[in-house]
Amino acid sequence: MIDFGFGLSPSSRVNLDLRDKELFSKLIETESDALKCMACGSCTASCSAGVFEETSLRSALLNLQNGNKEKALNLLSHCMFCGKCTMVCPRGINTRHLILSINKIYQAR
Ligand code: SF4
Ligand code: SF4
Repeated sequence: MIDFGFGLSPSSRVNLDLRDKELFSKLIETESDALKCMACGSCTASCSAGVFEETSLRSALLNLQNGNKEKALNLLSHCMFCGKCTMVCPRGINTRHLILSINKIYQAR
C-alpha cells in the first residue's frame, strides 16, 4: 500500500438509537437554556479548570445530546464553579447553574 503520509480519522458517526432522550428531555425541562447553546466555545476558551484538566461545557452539551453521558460528566468533573463561563456566554446562559443541573440529573442515574 502506498504511504500518502496521512490516514482517515476514526468515524464520528452518532447512533441515534443509543441516545438517552429521556434524560436530556428532563434536563431541558429544568434548564431550557441548554437549547440556547450555539456551541461557540467561549465557555471552553475561558474555563479556569480547562488550564489543568480537559473541561468543556460546549463538548459536554454536545455529548449529552448524543447520549454520551459518561464523557459529558467527565468533561465537567473538574469544574470549580468559578462562573467565568457565565460571564462570557454570548447567549446569556447561566452556565454554572446549567452544570449543577446536569450533575444533579445525570449523576442520579
Ligand atoms: S459560551 Fe454559551 S453559547 Fe457558547 S458554547 Fe458555551 S454555553 Fe454554548
Ligand atoms: S464555572 Fe466551571 S466550566 Fe465554567 S469557567 Fe469555571 S471551572 Fe470552567
